[in-house]
Amino acid sequence: MHSNIRFLTCAIALWLTGLGGKVVAQDAQPKTMEPDIPMTIVEAFDISAYNFNGPMPLSDNPAHDLYHDIWTAGTAFSYPGLEVPDSFKIDLRGYCMPTPSTRVNDIFGFRPRRRRMHYGLDLKVDLGDTIRAAFDGKVRTRTFNRRGWGNYVIIRHENGLETLYGHLSAALVHEDQLVRAGEPIGLGGRTGRATGCHLHFETRLLGLALDPALMFDFPNGRSTGESYVLRKKAAAKAAQSSASYVKVRQGDTLSAIARRNGTTVKNICKLNKITQNSIIRPGQTLRIR
Ligand SMILES: [Zn+2]
Repeated sequence: MHSNIRFLTCAIALWLTGLGGKVVAQDAQPKTMEPDIPMTIVEAFDISAYNFNGPMPLSDNPAHDLYHDIWTAGTAFSYPGLEVPDSFKIDLRGYCMPTPSTRVNDIFGFRPRRRRMHYGLDLKVDLGDTIRAAFDGKVRTRTFNRRGWGNYVIIRHENGLETLYGHLSAALVHEDQLVRAGEPIGLGGRTGRATGCHLHFETRLLGLALDPALMFDFPNGRSTGESYVLRKKAAAKAAQSSASYVKVRQGDTLSAIARRNGTTVKNICKLNKITQNSIIRPGQTLRIR
């Protein structure tokens, strides 16, 4: 509570300083500012909408039922002794798009070219774009991994999901910090193993990677419904199964590709988030399952 009051004081002081730069502290002690939160971000976000009521009440929420008291700051996803339930309903109300862009650069699933799984979904961002928390929650991890996600943040949400935000040029939050949906938590970038600027966004439940596209309709910037029911068997299969891709040939049509690969145009459209009238070009990669 005390640090929250300090934060508010700092935010107001920053705001006043911005107005004229003539505010002089009344007492002799120099005011210290919260680190890592640039003034522009503090101003851009309406802190009055926040209620600073101390720690998240972890005693009566779905996250507590799943994770108990396991709270490992600084690590990715490790929950020894805990198991994903066979079925689990995830409340999706209160979702906020993590990026200003709604463009998906790369989907969840197996990447044949690199022979490895892509456990998240990539959203297009420009360098310095504001990255926002998808739901209310508490920052569990904020760290750096040069060979992987670069600067990244993991937030645990009351609905049981943990979301990961990777390749940030900067993180704006610290571990154990409470955040609200839509609160700026980082800036877009390409740190770690990334080709080009994008947000690597993961949604996990007790470490099990779920396809974010099942829960969020990114092109329209909203959740796919009020809730999503996770079925463990199907999710585990999806997180291991090999998606298949083909390259579009000269003169190809969606129906020819569908016929050749034993699937339907409708299915291809759904997998690639295109319509039957979308133009496909030779050399383009399409997912067929
Ligand atoms: Zn990615």
